[in-house]
Amino acid sequence: MTTAGPHVLITGGGRGIGRHLVNGFLANGAAVGVLEYDSDLCDELQQLDGCSAWQCDVSDADDVDLALSAAFDANFVPNVLINNAGIIHSEPLVNMLSRDDRVHSRAAWKRVLAVDLDSVFFVTSRVIDYLLARRQTAVVISISSISASGNAGQSAYAAAKAGVNALTKTWARELGPLGFRFASVAPGFLDTPSTRSALSETTLDRLKQQIPLRALGDVDHIWQTVRFLIENDYVNGTVVEVDGGLVL
Ligand code: NAD
Repeated sequence: MTTAGPHVLITGGGRGIGRHLVNGFLANGAAVGVLEYDSDLCDELQQLDGCSAWQCDVSDADDVDLALSAAFDANFVPNVLINNAGIIHSEPLVNMLSRDDRVHSRAAWKRVLAVDLDSVFFVTSRVIDYLLARRQTAVVISISSISASGNAGQSAYAAAKAGVNALTKTWARELGPLGFRFASVAPGFLDTPSTRSALSETTLDRLKQQIPLRALGDVDHIWQTVRFLIENDYVNGTVVEVDGGLVL
């Protein structure tokens, strides 16, 4: 499969990495569908030639079913699915400097697991079921994180992304024989607005010294990896770290 021509469904394509992927696929002639929470971003995406957007909270199973029904009814049948929507959350397990609320918020735990992991299960299961009934196949790429290997201060996020990688491997084994392929892309630290709002300039400078390539990554590094994973039809169940060598 090449990146020119496919029907690509991307979750959270309104901004950041997802939006860069939307732009890349559109520039390569693909039809792009987006499931996006932010209705203003949905309106913006609808204006792009070749792009359709459905407002959807991908952490909500009913919302996912409704949005996907609308997409299928509009004859948008994806052969590439990118599970990208996610929230980054950092919080220590026990905040020893605090008198009250010392323990990691349970509400935050549930929200992060819902947006970053439940969503991948909700969207992928429905899309695969729809395609199987039509004897069609797809490549499913999920945007994970190097935090999946464990990262101090990110219990919920690390657990969610480890779960995403486990789903990639599980589905690669379960559905590979039926012609589906799965992969995860695990970015390290990218120079994106979400990274800059989460981490101070001082922290970023310290981090850069720990990265063998001494630089933050770029959204284009993720686009290049996604393109490779779509085009190389012998890759299945792999987690590709794109982190300048931070996790070795
Ligand atoms: P971002 O916050 O810039 O963009 C996320 C997009 O997803 C937004 O358009 C947002 O509206 C949408 N979204 C959020 N929750 C949603 C929901 N419940 N339903 C539907 N849409 C929703 O984030 P980003 O930095 O582009 O990150 C994208 C993915 O990459 C995430 O899964 C994140 O964990 C992962 N990641 C990012 C970095 C980084 O450095 N930016 C590093 C590692 C992994």
